[in-house]
Amino acid sequence: MFNKRVKIKELLTWEPKDQQVTVMGWVRTFRNNQFIALNDGSTNNNLQVVVELGKFDDELLKRITTSASLKVSGHVIPSLGKGQKLEVRGETIEILGDSDAEKYPLQPKKHSLEFLREIAHLRFRTNTFGSVFRIRHSLAFAIHKFYNEKGFVYMHTPIVTASDAEGAGEMFRVTTLPLDNPPRNEDGSVNFKEDFFGRSSNLTVSGQLEGELGATAFGEIYTFGPTFRAENSNTARHLAEFWMIEPEMAFCDLEDNMNLAEEFIKYIIKYAMEHNREDLEFLAQRLADEEKQLPQDKRSEMGLIEKLEFVVNNSFERITYTEAIDILLQSPAYKKKKFQYDVKWGIDMQSEHERYLVEKHFKKPVIVTNYPKDIKAFYMRQNDDGKTVAAMDILAPGIGEIVGGSQREERLDKLEQRMAEMHIPAEELWWYLDTRRFGTVPHAGFGLGFERIVQFVTGMGNIRDVIAFPRTPKNCEF
Ligand code: ATP
Ligand code: MN
Repeated sequence: MFNKRVKIKELLTWEPKDQQVTVMGWVRTFRNNQFIALNDGSTNNNLQVVVELGKFDDELLKRITTSASLKVSGHVIPSLGKGQKLEVRGETIEILGDSDAEKYPLQPKKHSLEFLREIAHLRFRTNTFGSVFRIRHSLAFAIHKFYNEKGFVYMHTPIVTASDAEGAGEMFRVTTLPLDNPPRNEDGSVNFKEDFFGRSSNLTVSGQLEGELGATAFGEIYTFGPTFRAENSNTARHLAEFWMIEPEMAFCDLEDNMNLAEEFIKYIIKYAMEHNREDLEFLAQRLADEEKQLPQDKRSEMGLIEKLEFVVNNSFERITYTEAIDILLQSPAYKKKKFQYDVKWGIDMQSEHERYLVEKHFKKPVIVTNYPKDIKAFYMRQNDDGKTVAAMDILAPGIGEIVGGSQREERLDKLEQRMAEMHIPAEELWWYLDTRRFGTVPHAGFGLGFERIVQFVTGMGNIRDVIAFPRTPKNCEF
């Protein structure tokens, strides 16, 4: 058998007692023709392999270059050097794959995140991205664990759909029609009846509507899958392809919905804190070093781990939209005309407003509820005031919106009336309306942007650095 190796993360926890082991990995550095720092991706910590002097010929030693891959066998012994308690005496060394160190884009020095984005195929081999993607994995696992423990059914909603959940546009069309000469109707418009699905179709922007169909049968479901938005917003928080978790619960109102969202977010953060301590400590240090470059007033008040502990141990602030607007209107920032966008009841709060609320005013995550109906989707439950809907957004320090959710309108007449007002074609959503015709129930749900929570937990400033191969306007490499 080729692969009978010990992972370095595990090996580093051992007591050195002359155990015979085989390890495999990539060379990070090779010093003095004697000390190999070997990394296998299981941890940022390298294993020191000591090459016995005189045992290997020069030809082989020359091939031990940064990023070459090795299979090493030898004994685990206490290390004399500082910084590690054990090392492996390299008794046999096999080069699995050579690497021309001169041409290797990742030099053993600090590279900028922007540069690393251009070599995203290799950036997993850096400590920063090693930590980020191991944490991303843990969070994904914790999400399934959380809902599984609660008895939610994991539902795979379709990637290709004909419906636009939000009625907001911004969709990627899916078609097999020839672009240069599509079949046309008499009026010149494209004839989608000739298209693959016999109608116009697109990549999903949200699994919610189908999720509601599941919830009104299983009681509680969640989705966790990719979503696509052709929004031309080149921000540090938007991707054209991102992953979303969307739980949907029958027999659930807005308050239950908020409680679940808060419990959920705390649970997965806690999971990462328990299972990714080393990686979090690495990223916390990285962030602290980065912030040293900033002027005092731009630095965060808390370190990364402190911030996560704070979020896990304190309840989220809950305010209504109307209260949020009042706070903004009373704020020194507003009075000193520091906001770029105007503040008044009815606005869709801009990122500067959300950040003021969470970072300056409350200094903790905030759940804002009961938004004006005119800035929210048709399916949100109408409140008795006739002006607002039972929506809730969760805003997080440093990120802004991480969750968008609501109690859904379960009353058929109200829903149909709202759809008509908003010009949403009821005949296309006949299947959605059926849930309100046959045993409708109060129900609610939300969407958590996966990359945004990964950003929050890892402290990474740009969303492009928490997904393996980011898709953004004019960028689809790898
Ligand atoms: P935003 O105002 O930040 O654009 P949104 O109101 O469009 O968000 P929703 O439609 O409510 O967001 O989607 C639910 C969640 O999905 C958001 O709370 C956010 O965490 C995430 N999300 C939305 N758009 C994106 C995107 N383009 N890239 C990454 N995550 C996103
Ligand atoms: Mn958006």
